[in-house]
Amino acid sequence: MSSSPRFYEEPSKRLPVIAECDVLVIGGGPGGIGAAVAAARNGAKTILVERFGSFGGTWTAGLLSAIMPYPFVTGIFLEVVQRWSNAGGWNTWGDKYGAGGSYDSEAAKVVLDQLIVEAGVTPFFFAHATAVIREGNRVTGVIIESKEGRQVILAKMIIDSSGDGDVSALAGVPVEQGRAGDGAVQPMTMIFKMTGVDDEALEAYRKTDLQLTGEWQAAKARGEVTVPREDVLLGRNPRAGEWNFNTTRIVNKDGTKLRDVTDAMIEGRRQVFEVAAFLRKRIPGFQNAVVSETAPHIGVRETRRVRCDYTITADDIMNVTPVDDCIARGNWFIDIHSPTGDGTERRHPPEGSWYEIPYRSLRAHGVDNLLVASRCIDSTHEAHAAIRITPQVMAIGQAAGTAAALCVKQSLQSTRQLDATSLRETLRSQGAFV
Ligand SMILES: Cc1cc2nc3c(=O)[nH]c(=O)nc-3n(C[C@H](O)[C@H](O)[C@H](O)COP(=O)(O)OP(=O)(O)OC[C@H]3O[C@@H](n4cnc5c(N)ncnc54)[C@H](O)[C@@H]3O)c2cc1C
Repeated sequence: MSSSPRFYEEPSKRLPVIAECDVLVIGGGPGGIGAAVAAARNGAKTILVERFGSFGGTWTAGLLSAIMPYPFVTGIFLEVVQRWSNAGGWNTWGDKYGAGGSYDSEAAKVVLDQLIVEAGVTPFFFAHATAVIREGNRVTGVIIESKEGRQVILAKMIIDSSGDGDVSALAGVPVEQGRAGDGAVQPMTMIFKMTGVDDEALEAYRKTDLQLTGEWQAAKARGEVTVPREDVLLGRNPRAGEWNFNTTRIVNKDGTKLRDVTDAMIEGRRQVFEVAAFLRKRIPGFQNAVVSETAPHIGVRETRRVRCDYTITADDIMNVTPVDDCIARGNWFIDIHSPTGDGTERRHPPEGSWYEIPYRSLRAHGVDNLLVASRCIDSTHEAHAAIRITPQVMAIGQAAGTAAALCVKQSLQSTRQLDATSLRETLRSQGAFV
């Protein structure tokens, strides 16, 4: 029997304004880092608000560890890779689609701290954006919550890099979630690391990749493994004996719902130890290996997508449609981990070609000073599944930050007044491939 919802009427309260800036970026993942660094380097007084205690988003709080091939991404992202490499925290690998890599998630954190601070961005950790101040067609400020309570940051331009489109949704911009028809989203994954792996033994065994999948499927058939995923997705980390696993799968959960993310954390950790037990028992190289880390936050692939001036579709990805206002390029394929269980749908655009992300798909619908720089830019469920990988999202972030800074510099009233050709020229002059 469902009981009717109960409410508490919160008394109104005067909130302190703790800062004012040109560009306020909410969310310090790949999109937000790209946006904040680009905005600051283009002369804007920039603040970056992050709810956790490190930058990186899914890179660090999600323990991702793997970077998919990025042949058409340059700019700030390549600088990050270079810095990770200089810090001894980077391994390059590749496939026929280009070079990718894996990074050390601890080295990654300190490198990202330095990148943000050196760019002149003012960072706030442990601050959660929970409300916005909307006046007509503008968002003039964001309310953050921290140990100091509720505080206000005012800004000329706002960038939503929350991954989940939090700022846009709070501002009343229309959002969509999931695939057409049933609204189902891609599954969540609790990424984890194991150390003490015998790298040589595992590498030799992996040359017979199907054998690993065969063992996994046999264990599933025996009921030894209950993870609803078809294979073991793993990668070698820069540290000797350490591997990362993108193998757990938690379905039918909504990353914007408190109950669901709580349950997903618990189920994710349960699956981690089940996978680890399987590996130790069945797979060469794991006999002495242990789970060394689980992600502080469950990996959320897909939540809201924010309505902007253009919706990128699967056809745009597959036909690699060129656009006049291209601000980033990519080649990652439509990669949909089954929202309901086993299986992964893969649709590749033509090999060697790139698709283009239009500036229009970042300009939040109905708001003059809000840009989206995250996996949640305007796209369909299918196109989102291609755009979402971190190098591409960082390139989108760089474009949004640059655009926001140019709007401030040119005293524009709306992101729609910014000339896309001059935005592209600025991006190109700063190393982006557009
Ligand atoms: C399991 C999994 C595996 C993946 N595999 C790969 C892969 O192998 N390679 C690859 O390149 N990509 C991969 N991806 C995709 C990629 O990680 C994400 O699409 C990408 O990180 C999105 O970047 P983002 O900046 O939009 O969001 P996020 O990385 O999610 O960062 C958002 C940031 O905003 C912060 N935030 C959110 N809401 C608020 C708020 N209200 N106030 C303040 N801060 C807030 C968060 O704490 C976070 O730091 C994977 C994703 C998942 C979940």
